[in-house]
Amino acid sequence: MSIFEELESEVRSYSRGWPVVFDRAQGSWLHDESGKPYLDFFAGAGALNYGHNNPRLKQALIDYIQRDGVTHALDMFTVAKRDFLQTFRDKILDPRGYGYKVVFPGPGGANAVEAALKLARKVTGRESVINFTNAFHGMTLGALSVTGNSMKRGGAGVPLVHATPMPYDKYFDGAMPDFLYFEKLLQDSGSGLNEPAAVIVEGVQGEGGINAARLEWLKGLDDLCKRHNILLILDDVQMGCGRTGPFFSFEDAGITPDIVCLSKSISGYGLPMALTLIKPELDVWEPGEHNGTFRGISPAFVTATEAIDAYWSDDELEKSTKAKGERIAAAFSGIVEAYPEAKLFAKGRGLARGIEFADGDLAGRVCAEAFARGLLMETSGPDGEVMKLLPPLTLTDDELTQGLSIIDESIKAVLTK
Ligand code: PLP
Repeated sequence: MSIFEELESEVRSYSRGWPVVFDRAQGSWLHDESGKPYLDFFAGAGALNYGHNNPRLKQALIDYIQRDGVTHALDMFTVAKRDFLQTFRDKILDPRGYGYKVVFPGPGGANAVEAALKLARKVTGRESVINFTNAFHGMTLGALSVTGNSMKRGGAGVPLVHATPMPYDKYFDGAMPDFLYFEKLLQDSGSGLNEPAAVIVEGVQGEGGINAARLEWLKGLDDLCKRHNILLILDDVQMGCGRTGPFFSFEDAGITPDIVCLSKSISGYGLPMALTLIKPELDVWEPGEHNGTFRGISPAFVTATEAIDAYWSDDELEKSTKAKGERIAAAFSGIVEAYPEAKLFAKGRGLARGIEFADGDLAGRVCAEAFARGLLMETSGPDGEVMKLLPPLTLTDDELTQGLSIIDESIKAVLTK
């Protein structure tokens, strides 16, 4: 029995589908300790949009450590934080006309979500939050209360309250006009729905099964929130930082959410970092009212600054992400057509793509076949029924060709068995 099996809790999960010991990583590739390469189409669950050990980010990090730059700084002022804030404003916020202030909520995505929920409740004085079917927002209690998955919710061990789920886009396959139910409940004083502080939504649901909301649906949600004076929280933890093409997944919908959650690829290097972006008029925190030890991990600020400089000074990455996404979409359409009896369904946007199978067993078996052929892929969706692709945005066309061909073979191996 390995030290992992002996000592590490049963709660571990990814290591079960990929039971090798990884050692080195570069670009789109992970290598196990025997040197076997794996093409990484999971990219740290979206935390490695610029690939593993990106050379430009690595150099900035080495230089910073070499000169004894501050590593840990609570929320003190540091040169690393100043450079990050300046670059983030100049290259991300200002060009898009977003006047957000920045909260450093703690190191992970769930921290960004907790801060968003707390602030929305404080600003409005209301408790209730609207979430969506199949949403995923993290594993802390507040984040779990707005998460759909029953297995994850069950882990809370306490009642998860003050949240009401509404149907996400396409939940009724177009059988019901958008927001009919939601708006009726808001308008009807007998509906039993408490006046919500906020709505929390993902532009594309990653964990929930690569469900891409239509841009007009997001716009409709934004309009509804404005009409009813409800704050809109956009959780871009997984789909932000270019995953769907633009830096923010909601840009093309032409909306400016009140609060935005970012994490995963914001540091660009896989280092822990998260942001909660808030409209300035919502900045009603007392000093220290939301706090945490790991809110100023300067090496993450250094790589985040370098990543923005390297990839967001022009629109090259955005264009290539959209183009590669279209290549995957075309390949997936071909696969769907090749197996009509399997009733597959291709979904996604940008470089967040998936194929939905009839059940989780099939999607899981395809991922296992892919692993055996040297490709890392995961499942998502309530029953793990979606084979999910989140490759680094920086992957080459050749790597994409290689990955797609492994996917083809893996699906064939499972569906023609
Ligand atoms: N929000 C979304 C949309 C996510 O996909 C995730 C993680 O997958 C989280 C929040 C939670 O982030 P973390 O795991 O860093 O706490």
